[in-house]
Amino acid sequence: MKKGMKLITSAVAAVTAAVIAGTVCASAASLGDVNGDGKINVTDIILVAAHIKGKRVLSKTATAAADVNGDGKIDVSDITKIAAHIKGKRNISDPDPEPDPEPTGSVIEVKNGVTYVNGILVVNKSYSLPENYGNGLTAETQQAFYNMQAAAWNDGISLWICSGFRSYWTQYNLYWNYVNRDGQWAADTYSARPGHSEHQTGLAIDINNASTSFNGTREAKWIAAHCADYGFILRYPYGKEDKTGFMYESWHVRYVGKDLAKKITKSGLCLEEYLGIDSYYH
Ligand SMILES: [Zn+2]
Repeated sequence: MKKGMKLITSAVAAVTAAVIAGTVCASAASLGDVNGDGKINVTDIILVAAHIKGKRVLSKTATAAADVNGDGKIDVSDITKIAAHIKGKRNISDPDPEPDPEPTGSVIEVKNGVTYVNGILVVNKSYSLPENYGNGLTAETQQAFYNMQAAAWNDGISLWICSGFRSYWTQYNLYWNYVNRDGQWAADTYSARPGHSEHQTGLAIDINNASTSFNGTREAKWIAAHCADYGFILRYPYGKEDKTGFMYESWHVRYVGKDLAKKITKSGLCLEEYLGIDSYYH
């Protein structure tokens, strides 16, 4: 009796295992469907990210599904492909698109995964940073802000840093929380995908209040009028949303140095126009 029960139990276990294996196998054909639930969505990205961060070990099947670009490793490029698929921009098995030809007049160099256009470090929707890049505001950026803060104070304006440096993974959490709240289309208009945030450069600062309620305030007007004197540009100007890829942000400044800041501001162009580059997720 006992032996019989044991046999039945192990038979059931074997069938169950086979069914599970079958299910998992069937879903293994589906690249990007890491958890094998028949869908490719944010949950799969979270699993891949947890794996990259070393917080979770994926099964063999999940690993195969997660290696979307089939290069034998699981890294951020796989997440990028899954995200592109979710957004409906391309199928999971499509090859990576060829990079756009360089715009004429712009010299684009990539050093250690960091893009410089005419010698200026650029991060936007087209150009990203490596995961491990950055460790705080650069000394020049910090000092330039202090100088600007002191000048503003003399004019009766109080400025402070509301968000300075943000690491890849800080941005990762921020971005995906927004995606979960508002959907990816909306999130992409106001929050950069991880690796695509200018805050990871250590050259960008949100001042006082990173929200549309800051627009039109005395502080916002002061920043627009004076930030170039301290080496900053308004990075996402009003009316340039289709060029920068982001909505107008009266609170977000980018350090480029005094000479360049004055030139760009005087030109009335946003950084993308000034450098002859685009900003969209490829
Ligand atoms: Zn910002």
